[in-house]
Amino acid sequence: MLSASLRFVPDLRKHATSAWLLAAVILAGCGRDSQTSSAVVASPPGAPNVVMIVVDTLRPDRLGAWGQVRDTSPHIDELASQSIRFSRATSQAPWTTPSTASLLTSLYPHELGIETEPNKVPDQAILLPELLRDKGYETFGVVASSFLSRRWNFDQGFSRFEDENVSGLMSITSPEVTRAAIKMLKSRDRSRPFLLFVHYFDPHFHYNSHADFDFTDAEEEVRSGETEASQGDLGTKVETAGPESGQLFDSYDSEVGFTDHYIGRLLQFLRDQDLFDEALIVFTADHGEEFLDHGGWKHAHSLYEEVIHVPLLFKLPQSRSGRVEDRQVGLIDVFPTITEILGVDVEHPISGASLFSAAEVRPVFSETSRNNNLQAVIYKGHKAIVDLNDDDKWRLYDLSTDPAEKHDLAGERVELLQELMEEVRRWRESTRTASEAESVVLDAEQTEQLKALGYLE
Ligand SMILES: [Zn+2]
Repeated sequence: MLSASLRFVPDLRKHATSAWLLAAVILAGCGRDSQTSSAVVASPPGAPNVVMIVVDTLRPDRLGAWGQVRDTSPHIDELASQSIRFSRATSQAPWTTPSTASLLTSLYPHELGIETEPNKVPDQAILLPELLRDKGYETFGVVASSFLSRRWNFDQGFSRFEDENVSGLMSITSPEVTRAAIKMLKSRDRSRPFLLFVHYFDPHFHYNSHADFDFTDAEEEVRSGETEASQGDLGTKVETAGPESGQLFDSYDSEVGFTDHYIGRLLQFLRDQDLFDEALIVFTADHGEEFLDHGGWKHAHSLYEEVIHVPLLFKLPQSRSGRVEDRQVGLIDVFPTITEILGVDVEHPISGASLFSAAEVRPVFSETSRNNNLQAVIYKGHKAIVDLNDDDKWRLYDLSTDPAEKHDLAGERVELLQELMEEVRRWRESTRTASEAESVVLDAEQTEQLKALGYLE
């Protein structure tokens, strides 16, 4: 059943983008080579501008819109008040490269061959900016992590791509990222629609405390059991000498508040330029962060909710009010959702489905081969995780009654577990594992540079 709250979308398309839809139909007959086409097609009148904001390492439970009691995110919350807020969105991987690649291609990490740090987005993958550029969009990208830089092949399809703020885990980049994004928009071709992809990085470890965003005196709810390890944790990296989780949250929240401030500046620029109301704005994160939830810290080690549950907002063109969707969705569905809103046909295979037209609630999958070899499925309110390095050992959690994943039900809910195992089997059969991974080739000096920046160990 199509959700009642989304029924207006076809109407919206009809009113906001009818000319654009006509142009898309005409353009559909044109030949297209996503890798080489640089021909500028006629600007389709009425095509909405698209702004994608991705914050690295952002846990939704540190945002007001998701229930955070500290005032860390007034600007994101304001955006949420005009957006469809998907409260249960899942990233397809617990670290930057595969998660963002899935977001921008609607393919799973194993389909792209992205398993470890040197793996890059394959040349033949079609990223959203490639598709939209060929439909007449001007495409801007600003990123602040090496793992999303042109070296990792994320510049595919961008008319202009700025990765000069890739300056390491310790650096503060949100001001420059915002400046670069605004500069691109100021110099845009006003006869064409644009896609702006902006990646903020400051909440990523290491956490810097910002004096203007100090929430340590604010009331902080102590989350029950946050430091107790659950039964047989899967893939956590225990930091025996790490700080207490409360200290970590204080610094992390400061980074979230700081980043929110600069996102607010970008959104205000859009408002000042009369671009905000008509734009489709998508806000999300590539993954979350462990804060001793299961005894570990940072990310890329497990597939627990603290790492793969991400915020997701869709601010539709002309939207004045917000609503919440509580069904499980994946970041892999963002690409086809955007193209459906724009009326752009996707003529190559993808693995996601539009959040507005999917007929039924589908299982959501996540995976990682970095540090550990894990796969997860979320379906029917439950989550199953398999450890492929531990004789395919399965864990099962009831996310409705045990969102912190403390109680493994694999031995009790055998039939349900088998159903979820079957979903994972079907998923792996219906998706193709990349035959060969494409990797970044680094010389010794480049490797040392990345180590110094904290990207490689
Ligand atoms: Zn990341």
